[in-house]
Amino acid sequence: MNILLKISILILLISSFANAHSKKKSLDTHIHGVSTLNIVQEKNTLLFEFEMPGNDIVGFEYEAKEQNDIEKVENAINILSDYKNLIIPSGSAECKIKSYSANVINEGKHSEFISSYKFNCNKISKLKIVYIKYFNSFENGKKLNIKIIGEKKKAVYVIEKSKKLINVKNHF
Ligand SMILES: [Zn+2]
Repeated sequence: MNILLKISILILLISSFANAHSKKKSLDTHIHGVSTLNIVQEKNTLLFEFEMPGNDIVGFEYEAKEQNDIEKVENAINILSDYKNLIIPSGSAECKIKSYSANVINEGKHSEFISSYKFNCNKISKLKIVYIKYFNSFENGKKLNIKIIGEKKKAVYVIEKSKKLINVKNHF
């Protein structure tokens, strides 16, 4: 293999790596106090996905190394593992939890907790209210940016700590 070809392959490898890396969302862009919630419908399935700055969940964003901090992260993951600590879909839609996940990711000076909850709803079109419990569970949280992708309606809501529910009538 001639040297020019070797160099060009190397450049190709480097640029594809750089590309893959830049596609990853940077945690630098989050705002402390502001979390996001995406609600996506697919037929009878509703997926709730939270992205929350570590600051809002445990009060710090470095990687937990001391026992005390590790316990705070574990405790937070436990709270995030029960959907009722974050959101409750109103009973009329007969939604049942099917699966969930809760994780923390660290990147440089920032960290984020990511959690998701998948429900099957027997009467999804009857879903009128989603109760928001997130602010009760995590007092550092100030705002929630909510994006809803329903089959009947797409909507964006920004809610403050004082708000206890969102009205989602005719979204699904
Ligand atoms: Zn941060």
